Amino acid sequence: MKMKRSHVIGVVSAVVMGAAGIGLIVKFFVDKPETPADKVTLWICLAEDVPHEFDVKVKDLGSFPNGVVCPVCGSEDVHRAMQCPECGHYIPTGLHGATPETCMFCGAELAGGKIDTFHSKGGH
Ligand SMILES: [Zn+2]
Ligand SMILES: [Zn+2]
Repeated sequence: MKMKRSHVIGVVSAVVMGAAGIGLIVKFFVDKPETPADKVTLWICLAEDVPHEFDVKVKDLGSFPNGVVCPVCGSEDVHRAMQCPECGHYIPTGLHGATPETCMFCGAELAGGKIDTFHSKGGH
C-alpha cells in the first residue's frame, strides 16, 4: 500500500507541476513585455472637415516609405498627435512648429511638457 500511495502522490504532483508549467507558459505569452516596435504612435488626418484619428505601430511606420497616409481617406495631410486627456480626441502636435496649449475639440488646457515624447522620428 505504501508504494501505491507514493505512486499516486507522484502522479498528482506531476499533474500539478505540469499545470503550473502550462500556466507559466501562458503567462509568458500574455505578459510579453512591450517592445519599442510595438509602441503606438498617434496620428491625425486633417484633410477633411472631420479629422480622422488613427494609430500606427512604430514597427509599421516602415511600411509607409513615402510617409504615413491616412487609412481612412488616403491623404498625406497627416500629423503626429497626442490624445486629449479630457475628451480622448487626437490633437495634432508640432503643427507649424507649435505645440497646442488647448484641445482643439474640447478646449481643455494641455500640459505642454509631455508633448516632446511624441517628437521622435516620423512626421514629414
Ligand atoms: Zn483622412
Ligand atoms: Zn479635448
